[in-house]
Amino acid sequence: MILENPTEKAIGILGGTFDPIHHGHLRLAIELYERLDLAEVRLIPAAYPPHRSFPFANAQLRLQMLQAAIIGTPGLVVDDRELHRLGPSYMVDTLSSLREEYPYRSLCLILGMDAFSNLPQWYQWQRLITLAHLLVVHRLGTQIPAFSTMQDFLSEHQTNCSDTLKKQLTGCIWIEEIPVLNISSTQIRHLIAAGKNPRYLLPAAVLNIINTHQLYS
Ligand code: ATP
Repeated sequence: MILENPTEKAIGILGGTFDPIHHGHLRLAIELYERLDLAEVRLIPAAYPPHRSFPFANAQLRLQMLQAAIIGTPGLVVDDRELHRLGPSYMVDTLSSLREEYPYRSLCLILGMDAFSNLPQWYQWQRLITLAHLLVVHRLGTQIPAFSTMQDFLSEHQTNCSDTLKKQLTGCIWIEEIPVLNISSTQIRHLIAAGKNPRYLLPAAVLNIINTHQLYS
C-alpha cells in the first residue's frame, strides 16, 4: 500500500535478547530514531529467542533492565508483547500483531548486518518484508552478504530514498551506516563472570539490577 500524504511517522522495531541491554543497543536505537525521523523505536525483548541459545537472565529481569535503561529517553519505548506469547518468539508473529494494531502505519524492523545475513534461518523470513521495511545497520566487522539469496533479496527491495519508508508501509530495505559501539552482551556477561567491572558499557541502572540479582556471575 502507498500513502500519498503520510501524516504519521514510521515506527522502528528493535528486537533482541537484551541479555543485558547495553549502550550499543541504545545508541543504535537513538541514532536511527533521529536520522530517519521515526515516531519511536520499540525495544522488544524475546521471551524464548528461537535462533540462539537460551538466555542467562529470565525474561522478566531482561524486561526490567530494558525499562530501567530507557527511563527519560524521548523516542525509546519498551514493548513486552513477546512475553505474553507461549513458544518461540518468532519475529514474524510479532510483526503480524503490530500490523494488526497499526494497519496504516509504516513499520521498520531494525537489524544488524549480522542478523540480516542470517535472515534465511529465521522462521518464515520472506514474510517479514511483507509486514515491515527492514532497516539494516552496519556493525563493526560485518559485510553485506555475498551469497545469491541475499544479493537477490537486496536488489529486489533496496531503496535509496528514505521518503519511500514513510510512503510505503512495507517492502523496502534501507541500509544505514552508523558509528556503532563495539559492545556486546556476551562481552558484558564474560566480564561479570570473570569478576571484572562492566561499568560504562551499559547504563548504571541496569548494572544495579544485575548486582541486586547477582546475574551473570
Ligand atoms: P549477544 O552478545 O548475547 O549475542 P548482542 O549484544 O549481540 O547479544 P542482541 O540482544 O542479540 O545483543 O542484539 C539485538 C540487536 O541489536 C541485533 O539486531 C544486534 O545486531 C544489535 N546490536 C547488538 N549490539 C550492538 C551494537 N554494539 N551496536 C549496534 N547494534 C547492536
